Amino acid sequence: MNPSRRPSFIDRALSHVLQGFDPTALVLAFVILLAPAGAGAEPVFSFASTPGKLPKTVVPIHYALDLAPDLDKLTFAGSEVVDIEVMEPTGRLVLNAVDITIHSAAIEDDAASEIALDAAAQTVTLVFPRPIAAGRHRLHMSYTGRINRFGRGLFMVDYPTADGRKRMMSSHLEPADARRIFPGWDEPAFKASFALTVTVPQEFLAVSNMPVGSEEPAGDGRKRVAFQATPRMSSYLFVLAAGDLERITADAGGVTVGVVAARGKGQHGRYALDTAVDLLRYYNDYFGIAYPLPKLDLIAVPGGFGGAMENWGGITFFESRLLFDPATSAGEARRGIFGIVAHEMAHLWFGDLVTTAWWDNIWLNEGFASWMQAKAAEALHPDWQTWLNGNGFRQVAMSEDARRTTHPIQQPIANETEAMAAFDSITYAKGQALIRMVENYLGEDAFRAGIRAYMKSHAYSNATTADLWGALEAASGKPVTAIASAYTEQGGIPLVVATATCVNGNQRIALRQERFTVHDPEARPQRWQVPVVRGGVGGTPAGETVLLDGAAEIAAGRCGEPVKLNLDDVGYYRVQYDDPMLAALTRSIDRLAPADRANLVGDTWALVEAGRAAPAAFFDLVDRLIGDDNRAVTEQIIRALTRIDHLEWNRPERAALQAYGRAVLRPVFERIGWDAAPSEPADYTLLRARLIGVLGTFGDDAIMAEARRRFALFVKDPTSLPTELRGTVTNLVGRHADRATYDTLLALARKTTNTDERVRYFSAAASARDPELARATLAIALTDELPASLVGSLITQVASQGEQRELAWSFVKENLATLAVRQGPAFQNTFPANLMANFTDAAHAAELAGFAPAQATSGGRIVAARSYERIMTDADFSAQQLPAVDEWLKRRMARP
Ligand SMILES: [Zn+2]
Repeated sequence: MNPSRRPSFIDRALSHVLQGFDPTALVLAFVILLAPAGAGAEPVFSFASTPGKLPKTVVPIHYALDLAPDLDKLTFAGSEVVDIEVMEPTGRLVLNAVDITIHSAAIEDDAASEIALDAAAQTVTLVFPRPIAAGRHRLHMSYTGRINRFGRGLFMVDYPTADGRKRMMSSHLEPADARRIFPGWDEPAFKASFALTVTVPQEFLAVSNMPVGSEEPAGDGRKRVAFQATPRMSSYLFVLAAGDLERITADAGGVTVGVVAARGKGQHGRYALDTAVDLLRYYNDYFGIAYPLPKLDLIAVPGGFGGAMENWGGITFFESRLLFDPATSAGEARRGIFGIVAHEMAHLWFGDLVTTAWWDNIWLNEGFASWMQAKAAEALHPDWQTWLNGNGFRQVAMSEDARRTTHPIQQPIANETEAMAAFDSITYAKGQALIRMVENYLGEDAFRAGIRAYMKSHAYSNATTADLWGALEAASGKPVTAIASAYTEQGGIPLVVATATCVNGNQRIALRQERFTVHDPEARPQRWQVPVVRGGVGGTPAGETVLLDGAAEIAAGRCGEPVKLNLDDVGYYRVQYDDPMLAALTRSIDRLAPADRANLVGDTWALVEAGRAAPAAFFDLVDRLIGDDNRAVTEQIIRALTRIDHLEWNRPERAALQAYGRAVLRPVFERIGWDAAPSEPADYTLLRARLIGVLGTFGDDAIMAEARRRFALFVKDPTSLPTELRGTVTNLVGRHADRATYDTLLALARKTTNTDERVRYFSAAASARDPELARATLAIALTDELPASLVGSLITQVASQGEQRELAWSFVKENLATLAVRQGPAFQNTFPANLMANFTDAAHAAELAGFAPAQATSGGRIVAARSYERIMTDADFSAQQLPAVDEWLKRRMARP
């Protein structure tokens, strides 16, 4: 239902099209009327034509659910009554269910004559002896299900406390695991209300989407907790968490905001709570619709899954992403907590109130929430410079998007394995970048007016991307669909190629567009309308936008004056300057704003990766930036150097690369040092930790010696090491650990009840280069000590050390069956392929291609194909460009 539109390629020579949008834009070349690139073919939302597997002739209106979990037996008994609307008479109902046993089903008093579960399709078909007439009916079912350890559906987590190990449960349902808790219509367009009753131990706190309506004793030390009914919502937004928990609350304009955490940790939710109150006010205003539920809980879960999930009214977080303990958390961890809370709370509108109709449009949820989290941070904490410092996130998406296995932001999704594979950097980071570019192009006010109109017309319902572009177009009067759909309906990145000429002392710049690819020589040419923002260097007037559709020529001051394209790094495209233009920019690099310096470094490195520029172009730029203490700029340099380091693993040339890395990064580190100065810039804290980590990795002996010294002091007196440096120092020490240090790290990990610290110490131990210690770490992965989510990151951490990747991969192969049971059904789909991406040689790529478990589902094949291409991209870069990199480094390091 949502075919990607493939715009036919129009000969570039014919399309000298330039339209000035900004009134101050310069030249308007002659315009040829063409079908606009990427004119949207997607229809607006309609329930009947939304993709999905379930028949649309029966819809749920309201679910009354009654659950009785048994956390010892890891099972639960369930009964549900679903009010349904039958559109046309039918003798059978098809709904979703997986891993549950249905004992009875009846419409009113008519029992189903057949209950047929289809495990592959994750459906159950109920057959009735008499046809069900059109109209309202009640479906009654009783069933039993399972509580698992792998973080999908209803899951349990064991966690350490001062009083010993405890067990709680929580749920995680996106994209398609509500069907593990109750049989139902588990596709996002089937919205209904939910009223949950749950029976739990008397001392438990149970949390769901809505406030508790009533509570009564249920005998045997248990209680029945009945929650108020939710508004209409998609099934994947249902939540249930229960355990020995506590809750702190605050009032936010009549809405009760709470942080729920394991008993004893509630106070560590204070920062998140204050943040949520601020954000609720900000979002109520921005969206123009007040948050519609009476309460909002942020629930800290000490395991089970990684990030966070925007269940309406009860957002769940991996504990260390939400809680802040001043005794152990780095102060700057507040930025991360703010970011993830802002992201999830944006979903309360974009996702929960207005929901993507089908998973082909999941970017509407994720791209938007990712954009909003940065926008909210810029509004409430401008000193964090979130757009500037978040630049690396977009670079990850651009790396993926340049390859053959990229995909359009909107893509057909056939099943839940493909839906899971869609939660990737294209969906999040390219989606975020596109929305930022569109907002910048339309202006903040027009953009917000469009968003408000979109929210209003789709509240409690669903939408497609076409609905969003339509609302923005109506509010702004600009051709949003024509521009934006080329970015959502085709994969890939525009490359703007700029060439300067000099006519009577006046500089003219010819612009043309191509498709930017890495390792994809056969790529299909594509076309976009690119809002190119250009400006001079150093305080010249604000940027001017030209909409590049094919090719154009612009006047640009006097000959030789530096001209920066993609000014302020707002656009989703790469730029290739001709040599004189790049030289002019490099000469005046000190006068470029940090965002433009970071953008220039990022683009130049990408051109090297694409084989479009010699390594010298990149290194000359880096040489000019030695001593630059901007974090975003440094991060771009580190990104390239660590990638080269990864490819150089086990090669003699690695020494020169690491020596160069130290020469580049040492001067800034020497300025900022190990210890914070009272009035240093805010970003120094993060930059310091980052530089220590990278310099240690690059073999800086002084850094390593100091890290060891500080770690030894820390073990005796934890307050001696600032919280900001604990992660970095423990990690460096872990990497070079001997048996005694390794044991110390494990002892620290096992002593703490703080999830953040637990993760830190286990991760440091898992970094050990000594194969004996790596084997000891992998052995822990087979015990019950850690929850599934941490087991995955433990193995990943071992594999990320070049020395141990073969060992980790062998371990996964040998224990595949055991791990698959423990880690859950997604494990084989994604984990082996992602682990293999640590390799950089063709032999391992071939092994992945032939590794059957990774190819078993269509979603798995997508992930495997991406990893395969990543490995081959690395292998080919090593063969084709690395020799020139090495040559440059050799000459550079031979200089006195
Ligand atoms: Zn999200």
